[in-house]
Amino acid sequence: MNIIMLGAPGAGKGTQAAVLSEHFGIPTISTGNMIREALKNGTEMGLKAKSFMDEGKLVPDEVVIGIVKERLSEDDCKKGFILDGFPRTIPQAEALDDMGVDIQYVININISDERIINRMSGRRVCENCGRPYHIVNLKPKKEGVCDDCNGTLVQRKDDHPDTVLARLKVYHTETEPLVGYYKKQGKLVDVEGQDSVDDTTAAVLKVIEA
Ligand code: ADP
Ligand code: ZN
Repeated sequence: MNIIMLGAPGAGKGTQAAVLSEHFGIPTISTGNMIREALKNGTEMGLKAKSFMDEGKLVPDEVVIGIVKERLSEDDCKKGFILDGFPRTIPQAEALDDMGVDIQYVININISDERIINRMSGRRVCENCGRPYHIVNLKPKKEGVCDDCNGTLVQRKDDHPDTVLARLKVYHTETEPLVGYYKKQGKLVDVEGQDSVDDTTAAVLKVIEA
């Protein structure tokens, strides 16, 4: 099963991707996490991406397409995968089609801008493994500490309010056209994003297993 998670930043894509990964036993490929990892490791790609990311802009298509292509060629992707945060532009979607990748579902998590802005302020992420949390909706067992790896939970620089507005703008102009793109291909599945993560998960599983 090959699935794409679509939706605005902060819609809950990452969280739902993790649930589906576990459910189907297939990996999540998160371009955001891969770029952050590259940045942490000080690679050339990471350094190139930093300025875009910090400003809430998209990293250039050719860079992201390159890392996804490489990642999808690895063995663990053979059984299927969840793409989280890719594609984010029409050229990226076209590149994925050109790779001959067969996608079954594109899950579009709908949520209003207002709720996104509220949510992002409470979002935290594990500094070590990238797992997402929320100080109200998705608390770790122990405050400030990752359930999985004991890493420290931090607020991402690009989750600060000004950057969130820039990212939303980018989402509407560059990424939202993908809704029509995949609707035309008959792959789009709309899910209403709920405040409760479990409710969103239930809605996602319902459409996939239907
Ligand atoms: P979110 O989905 O919450 O916006 P991500 O972790 O997916 O966060 O992405 C964070 C940042 O990483 C983006 O704002 C962008 O700069 C960069 N990025 C991630 N995926 C892509 C992509 N497919 N194309 C271009 N830039 C990307
Ligand atoms: Zn962790």
